[in-house]
Order: sequence, then C-alpha cells, then structure tokens
Amino acid sequence: MAKSAEKSKKIYKFKAELNQLLHLIVHSLYTHPEVFLRELISNASDALNKVRFLQLTNQELSDPDAELKINISLDSKKQLFTITDSGIGMTEDELIKNIGTVANSGTLNYLEQIQKNGKKPEGDMIGQFGVGFYSVFMVTDEVIVETRHAEPGSKGYRWTSDGKGTFSIEETDRKNRGTSISFRLKDDYKDFSEDYRVKSVIQKYSNFVDFPIEIGKEKINKVEALWRKSKDELKEEELTEFYKFVAGDFEAPLGHLHLSLEGAVNFKALLFVPPKASMNLFYDLEDKGLHLYSNRIFIQDDAKDLLPDYLKFVRGVVDTEDLPLNVSREVTQHSPVMQKIKDVLTTRILGMMEDWAKNDPGKFEKLTKNFGPLFKTGLNNDFTNREKIIKLLRFESTAKPKGELVSLDDYISRMKKKQKEIYYLTGDNREIVEKNPNLEYFRKNDYEVLLLTDPVDIFIIPSLYEYEKKTLKSIEKADIELEEEKKSDTEKQDDLLNPDMVESLIKVFKETLGDKVEDVKTSKRLVDSPVTLVVGKDGLDPQMERMMKMMNQEVAPQKKILEINSGHRIIKNLSRLNIGNSADPVLRKSILHLYESAMLIEGNLPNPTEFVQRLNELLEEATK
Ligand code: ADP
Ligand code: MG
Repeated sequence: MAKSAEKSKKIYKFKAELNQLLHLIVHSLYTHPEVFLRELISNASDALNKVRFLQLTNQELSDPDAELKINISLDSKKQLFTITDSGIGMTEDELIKNIGTVANSGTLNYLEQIQKNGKKPEGDMIGQFGVGFYSVFMVTDEVIVETRHAEPGSKGYRWTSDGKGTFSIEETDRKNRGTSISFRLKDDYKDFSEDYRVKSVIQKYSNFVDFPIEIGKEKINKVEALWRKSKDELKEEELTEFYKFVAGDFEAPLGHLHLSLEGAVNFKALLFVPPKASMNLFYDLEDKGLHLYSNRIFIQDDAKDLLPDYLKFVRGVVDTEDLPLNVSREVTQHSPVMQKIKDVLTTRILGMMEDWAKNDPGKFEKLTKNFGPLFKTGLNNDFTNREKIIKLLRFESTAKPKGELVSLDDYISRMKKKQKEIYYLTGDNREIVEKNPNLEYFRKNDYEVLLLTDPVDIFIIPSLYEYEKKTLKSIEKADIELEEEKKSDTEKQDDLLNPDMVESLIKVFKETLGDKVEDVKTSKRLVDSPVTLVVGKDGLDPQMERMMKMMNQEVAPQKKILEINSGHRIIKNLSRLNIGNSADPVLRKSILHLYESAMLIEGNLPNPTEFVQRLNELLEEATK
C-alpha cells in the first residue's frame, strides 16, 4: 500500500492568484502571527461540526465512535506543531479544490487594493476572507496535511506544500477519519511549539470552540454556552473573550445585548456591537452573519437571515429550540422561525440603540460614526421601523462644529417659528459644503442647515423625504421659499441696481450663456458671492449627479438656474459695463467666467484648461 502510494505522488500548481495571495499574507499580515492557530482550530471545528451534523441525520460514517475533538501535539526541541481533528476530512478532489484555489475571488482584489492605498491589512482580517488556512505559511516553510474523508471506504491522502507555487498529493494508508496538519516552525516563531504559548493563544481566541481542544492530554478550552447563563452570572471578561471568539476580533466590543425569549418564539441570544467597522463595511453583508445554534448544537456561523442588512454590523450568537436539528441551510433560510427571530432581534437592537442614544451618548456616537453609513440604508428597506430609524439618524449641521452630530428631533426643536421645511445641503465633506454660496442666506439669517456629507446620504434622502410633517428641502433647489431680506440701515441703498438695469444685465447673461443654463434670475439667497447655480424643481441634486458620474452612469447634462446677486460689487460693475457697451468682450468673458466658477465650486467643471485660459485673459485685462 505504502509503496504504491509513493508511486502515485502527483504535483499540482497553485492557481496564479493564490501565489500572489500567499505572498501578500506572508509579507503583510505578520503583525499577528498567532492568527494561524486560530484559523487552523476554526477549520478543525468546522470539520467536526460537519461530522456532528451527519451523525444527527443518522448517516453512515467511518470511525463512528471516534470522539469529536481537536488535539494539538508539540515538540519544542524540534520546533514541531501538529493539529489533529476527527472531523469530516477531505477527499482528493476536495484537497485540490479547497486548499489549491482561493475560495473567494474578490478577496485578492480587495487585499491588493488595500495595499495600493498604502493601508496595511490587519492580522484579524485573514479569517474574514475565507483564506484562513494559508496563514500557516507565515510561521512555517512547509506544511503537511494528512486526511481521510468520513465517508466509509474513503482513502487517505497526504498534501504537501512549501507555499511557493506547487503542492503534491499522494495516497496514504491513514486509518483515522479526519485531518492532521503538521509542520516545523520557522526559528522566529518557534515559541508556538511551547505549551504555554499555544495555551495562551487558545484561551484568548478559541476558548469557546464547541469541541474539546487538547494539548497532549490536557483539555484547554471551556466549551461553554455562555449565552445560556443568566444576566447576573455573566462576567465582563467572559463577555469580552466571547466576543473576540465569535467576531474574530482583537479588541473588546463597544457593548452587548443579552436576550432570553420565551413565548411565541423561543431563543437566547448574545449580541455585540464591534468597537470598529471593518475596512469594508458593505462587503461584510455578503459573507457575515450570526452564529446559529439549535439547542446548543452549532448549525452555522453565517446565518444571514437573522438580521436585516442594515444591522449586519452586529455579531454574536442565537440559540433556538424552535428549529429542528437536522436543518439544512435552505430550510433555515425560509423558515418562519427565522423570520420571527429576525423581527425580535431587529426591535431589540433598535431599542438598545435608543437606550444608548439617551443614556450613553458617547457610546452611541461611536456606533454612529462606525456604522452610521450602513445603518442609514435601513430607511430604504425597513418600512416597519421607519420612525425608529429616523430618530436614530445623526447628521452634521451648521448649528454645530465639525464632528458633532445632530438628530432630526434636535433640528426641529431649533427651527424658527415660520420655518416649515428642514433644510439640507449635500457635498463631499464639511469644508466643501461650508463654502457653498447657497448657504450664505441661511447663515446670515440664522437658519440651521443639515450638512449631509456621507456618500450614503444622497441615497436615503428620497426615503427620508419628510419627518414630523416637515419636508426635507435641499437649499440648492430653486423652488425654496425664502423670506425677503430685511435690509439693514448700514447697507447703502443709493448704489443698488434698479430693476431695469438688472433686467438688461440678465438679458446679456442669457445671451452669453445660451443653452448652458435653464434660466438666469436674481437671487435672494446670496450674500457674499456674485452668483450661484441652483437646481430646477425637478432637477437632479448636484451631489447625486456627481455620484452617478463616479459610478459611470449615464447622466443627461443637468441644466441649472444661474442666480445673480444684484447687490454684489462684481454684478454692479458688470451692469456699468453693460450700460456702456453691451457687446464689451470683458463683460461677456466675465459672465462665462462667473458661470464656470460656480460649476467649479459644485465640483462639476468639465474643462479646467479653458477656465484657466479665460482667467489669464481677464488678468491681462485687469493688469494692463
Ligand atoms: P474557510 O475556512 O473560510 O473556508 P480556509 O482557508 O480556512 O477557508 O479553509 C479552506 C477549506 O479547506 C475549508 O473550507 C475546508 O473545506 C478545507 N479545510 C481546511 N482545514 C480543514 C480540516 N481540518 N478538515 C477538513 N477540511 C478542511
Ligand atoms: Mg477557515
């Protein structure tokens, strides 16, 4: 047997992208080398779960009586590490497929992008990407995987690789069901062959693995269903430890929620809000979920249907008696029990957020800053909880310095008596929106304006539309109702343009700009700027226009209304030029230039070269 196995050794090449990935892993994830241990244990635990599942459904297995456990054996003199599980094992095909390819094709792209942007992927990210196994190449130069699938009659195989381009597979006469992974540690990492070191890592990250983990003969982990304890039995350290385990995080959670429900639906849950958002919050929606248990038996670690998308930043465990044990993923997905649990979790999480907002604003602020962008999208999807979600939204506002956030209720409490609408302005960041000339009137007359600078905002405004019978209104829209300005005494009335002069100047503006603009009008909203662009009643918000262009979507060129400030020095000068000679080239150039400056401020200037050329011509004129 052994001899013929020797002969059948086959060499395979890793997929090209896997080579790159391995290189990335080894060279950039070194900050937390102990990750390899957590990942190997997690794979062993997955494999054991699969066996337990088959047992529950009474399927025939090889070694039916083998204890479900993980064993680690160490030899510190020879720097050897071996981890063995009595799990499902792998067939030859599975070996090739599962550890010769990257499971998630987006993973490499994503990691590369992070690197390009000069950011360093953090050690704890590796498990999130379905590439956990390869982290072992951080600590060793060669790995041997010996495995035998649980199906009766399966053969044993040995997979060997140095992680540098190829792997080999040969048949063995392995007797035991399950998998052993062994390697010699690199000198820098030889402490992972010491009991104390391995023990401490396990206690840190893998204490709650559902199967015994032994080093030699000693059992290391707790195997405890923490969520079944009563509230006052739970200790802070335990909670933190458990969070680190379920979320694969290195830091303590921001807070937790412990639920125990009996009645129409029965379940226990231990949920956590992470301290930070992962690098790509929206990416997580695809592959993250809560851990689902049925009567203490693990079912799956990515139950996606237990939370609505906008709450998927929450991590933790749900354990229910209401699901049959032998459920498949497809069954759980469509089960009414899952829907009921989801509804309860949603209500309770929103309740927790309300509580934080009221009683622990610092914590709530952290949550909002980290997960606000995702949370807001709930407005577009969860109509049942619309009111609650709106109350939990926070925005920047002209009433507060940068970084301080306000709620719509705060805003309404500060509204002026006659004010009927909630004003907002969108833009890329606070600095840019603060400079928007359309704000001038509102600032001068003390109207608060919400500054919506989160890219997501633009997508939720249509769903937000109205709150407490007050419409949300962009101050960049032409149809905004503004009170006539009270002119102060100090403002000189004598050199104001008379209506005829304004009308005649507007005519020249229209002639010069032609079909670049929808209309030209005098403005009520300008104070310090000569002109501004506003959107017609049915026009697209400028921020939306920019977003769509960024996403390479076709946007019909948006014609805007140019408003002019007849009290502004430049406009008065232009009127004087117009009275002298309405065909004056400087007058025409200045009009074009004012228009394009307004486009520039909006971030929509199409041709900067022309703009600069014209500016130079005007400068030449001015310095003559
Ligand atoms: P993930 O665990 O996210 O799928 P990994 O890179 O950690 O990604 O593992 C890749 C695959 O290799 C697993 O999905 C599993 O199919 C297989 N595998 C790894 N370790 C074991 C093991 N101890 N027993 C059985 N299969 C394993
Ligand atoms: Mg894994």
